[in-house]
Amino acid sequence: MIIVMKKGSTAEDLKRVEVRVTELGYRPHPIVGVERTIVGAVGHEDKTPLHDLEAMDCVEAVIPILRPYKLVSREFKPEASVLDVAGVAVGGRELVVMAGPCSVESRDQILKSADAVAAAGAQFLRGGAFKPRTSPYAFQGLRREGLELLAEARKRTGLRVVTEVVSVEDVPLLVEYADVLQIGARNCQNYALLAAVGETRKPVLFKRGMATTIKEYLQAAEYILDRGNYTVLLCERGIRTFETATRNTLDLNAVPVLKRETHLPVIVDPSHGTGYADLVPAMARAAVAAGADGLMIEMHPNPSEALSDGPQSLGPADFEGLMRSVRPVAEAVGRALTGPKQK
Ligand code: PEP
Ligand code: MN
Repeated sequence: MIIVMKKGSTAEDLKRVEVRVTELGYRPHPIVGVERTIVGAVGHEDKTPLHDLEAMDCVEAVIPILRPYKLVSREFKPEASVLDVAGVAVGGRELVVMAGPCSVESRDQILKSADAVAAAGAQFLRGGAFKPRTSPYAFQGLRREGLELLAEARKRTGLRVVTEVVSVEDVPLLVEYADVLQIGARNCQNYALLAAVGETRKPVLFKRGMATTIKEYLQAAEYILDRGNYTVLLCERGIRTFETATRNTLDLNAVPVLKRETHLPVIVDPSHGTGYADLVPAMARAAVAAGADGLMIEMHPNPSEALSDGPQSLGPADFEGLMRSVRPVAEAVGRALTGPKQK
């Protein structure tokens, strides 16, 4: 439900509404606007209806949200959200790029990656320290040591760090080190983990599951916002189809669908979406043309030696080339991409 406050209602009125909403068994999510304040009230659908609130002198109207996802929907917030992600605006005119290796492997590897990522004009360094690998025998990540190396790379370059959290008990450790918590495709419907990151106030890069419909994906995102964490970036990273020429099928339909259905920014990951480095630049350009707010790209100083996802990782020169080729596409659709750092 959306509770629309009357024009000129006070902070005290808002408090009264929040208290009443809570008493009725819902969670209040206020958005204080310049013109008007609204309160999203979400909770179990079998609770007492909220229409009685219309009797309160400060309430203009109580409107149902018809979509199965509520706080993420455009019904709740019609205008696109421009989110402050560790000091970087995401969802505005400027595109954001998150790049780096699949996994943090060594000090030399992550510092070289960070230097190349920063030099090409990206704002975020990605790199997994906790890896959700398909096989238990594959490299699982450097864990805490990996996080420390990412922190060193951040200090050296000023890049913000995006890194994955795979379990609820690791959330406090990741909060200490990361600027953005990544939830990977394999955990897209791990509701306990979603609720745990929802309890933090760290920005979340939330990847779509490999077999998750958009409707299921948005209901999963709702778990994060429902806990009060509204800084959520959606990420299309490819879905499973019958096609075997590529690792996944990058669902670019999802970009305009997500932009229509939600106010949250949309990032596209063409690295996992294709699985092959030579396909990544074309799909990065296509993603930007389709309206993505940013890209996540795997880049490794030496892809042939990568401990994970080498075949889909670009070397530093190819990454720089990708950035160069995306720039005119960004401009053609009214967006901008930061230029390379002056040497
Ligand atoms: C990753 O970003 O390296 C990763 C594991 O991605 P996904 O969860 O999309 O497979
Ligand atoms: Mn990867």
